[in-house]
Amino acid sequence: MAKRSLEQAIGIITESEETRSSIPRVLRYALINTESYPNKGKDLPDDFVKYFIPESEWFEKKKRGKKNDWMQCQKESGQTFIQWQRSGSSLPFGRRTTIYLIPLAFNEDSIPKEILDPIKAFAAVFFQIPVKVMRTKKFNKEVPNRINENSNTYQVDAGKVLEIMKPLVPSDAFCVAGITMCDLYPTESWNFVFGLANLAGNCGIYSLARYLSNFGKTQTTVYEPTSEEGGISTIFKRACKTMCHEIGHMFGLKHCVFYECLMNGSNHLEESDGRPLFLCPVCLRKLQYSCKFDIEERYRQMIPILEDFGFKDDSKWLKTRLARLETLKKD
Ligand SMILES: [Zn+2]
Ligand SMILES: [Zn+2]
Repeated sequence: MAKRSLEQAIGIITESEETRSSIPRVLRYALINTESYPNKGKDLPDDFVKYFIPESEWFEKKKRGKKNDWMQCQKESGQTFIQWQRSGSSLPFGRRTTIYLIPLAFNEDSIPKEILDPIKAFAAVFFQIPVKVMRTKKFNKEVPNRINENSNTYQVDAGKVLEIMKPLVPSDAFCVAGITMCDLYPTESWNFVFGLANLAGNCGIYSLARYLSNFGKTQTTVYEPTSEEGGISTIFKRACKTMCHEIGHMFGLKHCVFYECLMNGSNHLEESDGRPLFLCPVCLRKLQYSCKFDIEERYRQMIPILEDFGFKDDSKWLKTRLARLETLKKD
């Protein structure tokens, strides 16, 4: 069944557009509940069409990628909106509506405030629910660790860190996301992992170690803003992408195979850097269903943060997308 879904998903991406309807096949497959809207999407509410059935130029279909890219190595079938809904993922509800970020330090410095403050601001806009930063949790050597043979870096067992984090989850937390500059591994057989979340979906950890330009020069990664390629902007963008991707998993979102999307899986730094900062219509619909945000307001709030860091292409995309949504309002 999973194989069939994958074939369907890939087929949808490579086939020419369906002619019976103006709704791309990929979205009819991944986004529309045909039980609720049996008329091939022609009976969808106007706002749904406006926000989630964009013209083809706005979102690029998922590329097959190169040999060592995620899609070539991990056979994932993707997750439609209905599959996500039926997965029973927890949503921000009642008292549990706050995302907590917790800086974690092992054998290296904690995440500097100049990175932590802006990524907190970006997370609050991205998810549109409250985001708070907890006090740094410092570990001694109690977490299983190793020196990675390939990178010669100090790594900690991310799964064990998640176990230790469990009792730290505040009563009003939707989730707690640990951020560290320490390199991570998920199991002995894996080389490394950028991030990991627990199955309950309320604890996650992600690492910025491999995003720093001096990674691998010493066993513990050191943040040196003056020697950072692309300066703090590059680190900020990488940190935001990883954080929002990992927290996205906590909302039950699986890797996206439909579009070039923030929720695409990533096997290496070049692939992570190539991921968009934004969600495709399928993933956006899942998150919007979870957090009940105003899509235009959310896009609007992202612009000044991205402009502060000089991301002109991203802010231009947001502005033109907003302008297009504005014209649809008048139609
Ligand atoms: Zn992921
Ligand atoms: Zn997506």
